[in-house]
Amino acid sequence: SYFSDLGLAEPILRALEEKGYNDPTPIQRQAIPALLEGRDILGIAQTGTGKTAAFSLPSLHRLAQNPTGRYPQGCRMLVLSPTRELAAQIADNMRLYARFLNLSVQCIFGGVPVSKNINAMRKGADILVATPGRLLDLIEQRALTLDHVEIFVLDEADQMMDLGFIKPLTRIANLLPKNRQSLFFSATMPSEIAKLGEKFISNPVKVEV
Ligand code: AMP
Repeated sequence: SYFSDLGLAEPILRALEEKGYNDPTPIQRQAIPALLEGRDILGIAQTGTGKTAAFSLPSLHRLAQNPTGRYPQGCRMLVLSPTRELAAQIADNMRLYARFLNLSVQCIFGGVPVSKNINAMRKGADILVATPGRLLDLIEQRALTLDHVEIFVLDEADQMMDLGFIKPLTRIANLLPKNRQSLFFSATMPSEIAKLGEKFISNPVKVEV
């Protein structure tokens, strides 16, 4: 099967071609059609499976299909990642996938001056990739709003748990609009992670690779 069979818009196919991707990976084949339909996803998948493109490509498609412009201090898609390195990697990949679309990607995480993050979010971004602690810092400083989030991605849920991010995640979940699409990924799915997932996703399509 090819990416063009999955229903992705032409500018996205062009970006994939330039990146040299020919065929979708198994998780991409499973997740992309369901996500294009607006379904929630519960994904059991590790890094290296093509998970980032699996959640990014259909999300970019949907955001581009319904252009709203940017919301000051807001974002339309929020991706939460447990570590700075992963967050930066996801943002880099999303910028490449979005290069022929008029969608902006910002990345915020701890360890850099918070004023830099505040400036970056002043005019808003279509897509925000963030670590949970710094995200809450910005919200507390009234430099960020989650009121416009249409698509929410929680990546590496098991690592989030291990790093003690349950409380911040629950706080963030309570600030998200109820009417949204949610994607929840974890490399493993013990019962406490599944329970956490229930807080974020509803009636999800399950994908496992
Ligand atoms: P990820 O699991 O998202 O971290 O992706 C693992 C690696 O595979 C990354 O370097 C991606 O750029 C690459 N990749 C993702 N999807 C594909 C694909 N369909 N074909 C070839 N490479 C891919």
